[in-house]
Amino acid sequence: MDMELDPPEPNNELTTTEGTSSLDLVLARNLDRMSQIYNVELQPGAIRVWQRAMAGQSPRLVEWAFEEYFKTGKFPAKPADIYMLIRQHQETPRHDDKQFRPCGKCEFGWIRVYEGMTVGTVLGRRPVDPKVGAVKRCDCFLQWAAQRKAAA
Ligand SMILES: [Zn+2]
Repeated sequence: MDMELDPPEPNNELTTTEGTSSLDLVLARNLDRMSQIYNVELQPGAIRVWQRAMAGQSPRLVEWAFEEYFKTGKFPAKPADIYMLIRQHQETPRHDDKQFRPCGKCEFGWIRVYEGMTVGTVLGRRPVDPKVGAVKRCDCFLQWAAQRKAAA
């Protein structure tokens, strides 16, 4: 068996903390983890490639993206992989704001009722059959619809 048991040489470039930002530290830590997880040796200068690629990104978001990547990534991450995750994360909440989110007390914006009057346009107002029940829009949906209308 010719297993290489030598520990990776400590890389001063990755461990120095002098004059580094928290983004640099996040990158250094996660590149270090990456080399352990995937059993690869980082190219000298890898940290600088990553620093340039991630410049201006929030360290917390970069940290999060590495975590996400490590869960499913089968190969060492490239800056593009991490960047994609960050972008998806940044775009998702904005996208979600326009989506209807039920309050949790209703069935996706509908509430089942077993009393009261229906507002049916075909059969007219009539009492709700307590055995069958009826559905009405929940306040959360009405609020969302009103906001959407106002924003349009
Ligand atoms: Zn609701």
